[in-house]
Amino acid sequence: MAKYVYQFGGGRADGKAEMKNLLGGKGANLAEMSNLGIPVPAGFTITTEVCTYYYRNRNSYPAELEAQVNTALAAVEKIMGRTFGDPDNALLVSVRSGARASMPGMMDTVLNLGINDAIVKGLSKRNERTAWDCYRRFVQMYGDVVLGLRPVEKTEIDPFEAIIEHVKHKRRITLDLDMTVGDLQELVRLFKIEIKKRTGRDFPEEPRAQLWGAIGAVFGSWMNDRAKVYRRLNRIPEDWGTAVNVQAMVYGNMGDDCATGVGFSRDPASGAKLLYGEYLTNAQGEDVVAGTRTPKPIEQLKKEMPAAYKELDAIVSKLERHYRDIQDIEFTIEAGRLWMLQCRVGKRTGFAACRIAVDLVKERLATPEEALVRLVPDANALDQLLKPVFDPKDKNRAKNEGRLVAKGLAAGPGAACGRIAFHAEDAVALAAKGEPVVLVRMETSPEDIRGMNAALGILTARGGQTSHAALVARQMGKVCVAGCSELVINYATGKMNVKGKSLRAGDFISIDGFTGEVMVGKVMVMPSEVKQALFGKGQAAAKARKSITFQAYDQLMKWADRHRRLRIRTNADQPDQAAEAVVYGAEGIGLCRTEHMFFGGDRIIAVREMIIADDLRGREKALAKLLPYQRKDFVGIFRAMGARPVTVRLLDPPLHEFLPHTKKEVEELARVVGLPAKLVANKVQALHEANPMLGHRGCRLGITYPEIYLMQVRAIVEAAIAVRKRYRVACVPEIMIPLVGTYKELAILRERTEALARDILKKANAKIDIPIGTMIELPRAAVTADRIATVADFFSFGTNDLTQTTFGLSRDDAGKFLPFYVENDILPEDPFVSIDVDGVGALVAMGVEKGRSVNAKLKVGVCGEHGGDPLSVHFFHKTGLDYVSCSPSRLPIARLAAAQAAIANR
Ligand code: PEP
Ligand code: MG
Repeated sequence: MAKYVYQFGGGRADGKAEMKNLLGGKGANLAEMSNLGIPVPAGFTITTEVCTYYYRNRNSYPAELEAQVNTALAAVEKIMGRTFGDPDNALLVSVRSGARASMPGMMDTVLNLGINDAIVKGLSKRNERTAWDCYRRFVQMYGDVVLGLRPVEKTEIDPFEAIIEHVKHKRRITLDLDMTVGDLQELVRLFKIEIKKRTGRDFPEEPRAQLWGAIGAVFGSWMNDRAKVYRRLNRIPEDWGTAVNVQAMVYGNMGDDCATGVGFSRDPASGAKLLYGEYLTNAQGEDVVAGTRTPKPIEQLKKEMPAAYKELDAIVSKLERHYRDIQDIEFTIEAGRLWMLQCRVGKRTGFAACRIAVDLVKERLATPEEALVRLVPDANALDQLLKPVFDPKDKNRAKNEGRLVAKGLAAGPGAACGRIAFHAEDAVALAAKGEPVVLVRMETSPEDIRGMNAALGILTARGGQTSHAALVARQMGKVCVAGCSELVINYATGKMNVKGKSLRAGDFISIDGFTGEVMVGKVMVMPSEVKQALFGKGQAAAKARKSITFQAYDQLMKWADRHRRLRIRTNADQPDQAAEAVVYGAEGIGLCRTEHMFFGGDRIIAVREMIIADDLRGREKALAKLLPYQRKDFVGIFRAMGARPVTVRLLDPPLHEFLPHTKKEVEELARVVGLPAKLVANKVQALHEANPMLGHRGCRLGITYPEIYLMQVRAIVEAAIAVRKRYRVACVPEIMIPLVGTYKELAILRERTEALARDILKKANAKIDIPIGTMIELPRAAVTADRIATVADFFSFGTNDLTQTTFGLSRDDAGKFLPFYVENDILPEDPFVSIDVDGVGALVAMGVEKGRSVNAKLKVGVCGEHGGDPLSVHFFHKTGLDYVSCSPSRLPIARLAAAQAAIANR
């Protein structure tokens, strides 16, 4: 018989940590903790298979499920010494979701389940107020989660909150804690009336009916909107499903010897090794996470409940040694007795991820390979290390001007300066206009996730380090300052007051996620510590090089370089970019886009002159102006790259990028070429293409106007000769032909290139081997790669164009509908960001295989944007490419991803 229910508690469990796919993360870890002898309230997990079954069978369950739940519930009763539904000795349970990957706060939970009018009386014998408080919370939560009494519109008021406010107002009290048993009884009564009014049904009194209602609601919450958004952002497949955990309740709200809290085995923001967390005395877990009361730092627990603190510290250490990774835990202390409610690998900032990875190796809890692999989900987080911080001088000035107005908790590191948005939708709208945004909220909830994603930073008035805002912001790599209680926000007026200053939506604000400081107005941002260490000069750079962050970065990069097989090149077309890339670890240039070298100053005019020229003479005149520029640029790039290979791609301009657009530009060009403006305008009109991405670009230009590529080849070869002779730098140029669709194009251009190069080298009495290769960026080139490879020394996959042409999606226009496709799961993600393995990837694999089948020495790389995307890098490793090439700032990520791919595929 299929097993759908797994028990845990009482020092043993049916499951274990490795069973995450079946039990979800929470269920698997509860089982593991039980097996380790850690005190966990007994319970059971309904597997993710039941969730899949539920959705495949019109929201119904397998026939065996009910009997298995009954058996498991009986076992929980036995371990806990209480009986579900027994008024004299009631067992209450929590019903929680738990997917394979953690999705904090995205799905539903019901607490204190199994209580009714009779049972509350029985429980009152233990503690009357707690009993009624539980009942009140249960009816409210059940009404919200299971019976659907929740506000739909932003403007709507939560019906339960409205009743609570009404009762408080009548009694002239403000705090929940001031409510008497009578008040709580009144709330339960009014809640039930409201439920009856809105649903037409009585509140379910029968504990088993409550249980099945809650199980259904948790499975149902797998498909709610925020869970879907979260899955998409975090690449969690829909068919994984969630498990449901039913667990005996323990109480942190039975008095002053009770508490509840959350913690980490290391600081999740900085990675420092210490028990880190916060708690509330006499409270339930939801109070900590909701951020409605600001919790106390965990060190205080040491004084308040020393025995429980000591036990907690020991358990957290044990868990970290067992899992060999940072742990994120939840606990409750009931009448002095500690219970662990959850453990999981802790979400952390990119800073913390890197530091912890390195520290765990130092502490002999991991090998360097494990440290690298463990960073797989954080590969993009390396970006954070390269993120800006505030310019100290400008920040000081802001302080001196009295613009430092508040301080909250430093919950997500980095510096953010942007316009205030008070609502998630406003943040999305502002960001869509290209404005920098800081989302400012009393507290965030999972509904705000889109707005948080759109914002550079998040600032909240309430909530601690582990509040929703803090957790989610850190995971997204957003700057976050939380719990900044000085802020008085008024959503209705779109204003906020802080220290007597009034700010409106749209005003600039600057938040420091390292210190928690909040400054009004703009504060200038500057490069990260790692960037300062790598590129800075003098004392500041020396200091940055000693910083923990840089040390961790440097160590990881060393390990990564030792383990990766893929070579890493960069896309650069200016000497300063090339120099920067070398510092980031580039082993060569994989793509030097020569058209980018023509944008500045007089050059654009000469290019335009060339484009509109009627005849060879006209073009040659313009090209003669461009030759010295090109040669000089190549000298600069070759020098910066030293003996590293430099792939120079011959001109590939979508023409519209170069045509004069304005009347003024047309007139200026007319003056240079000595023609009437009208005539020039007509020429420009004639050159206009309906789809320039598929137009007269790439090698098509080189084929039809040979003199253009010949000028470029001359510039490359002459520059190489000069650099070798004058600077004694053994530069290694490679010449690449773009947008080749047929073998003949490359054969013709190769012959012309070789002939000219031979001629120039001979005259200069120089010997330089200059490989000639092609971009593979059209499906036809991939399909006929065996033919093309007979005349190519190397291939470089241009996956930007290959994606465009394989999908038939315009690179310029796809932004109009691609987000919709991704949002609605028609595509798993933007194929211009992460390679479409099944389609574009298949063409890459075919191109590699066909190319090498005729030319075993063929060197193969990729230079589309995918070269810096971790998932794509894994694919390129597996496909057997020799190198990936990406923009300079993505190089560290590519190095790390290449090492991870190599280790994973050993
Ligand atoms: C490509 O098409 O992937 C490529 C690198 O070339 P470009 O982006 O310049 O068209
Ligand atoms: Mg291209």
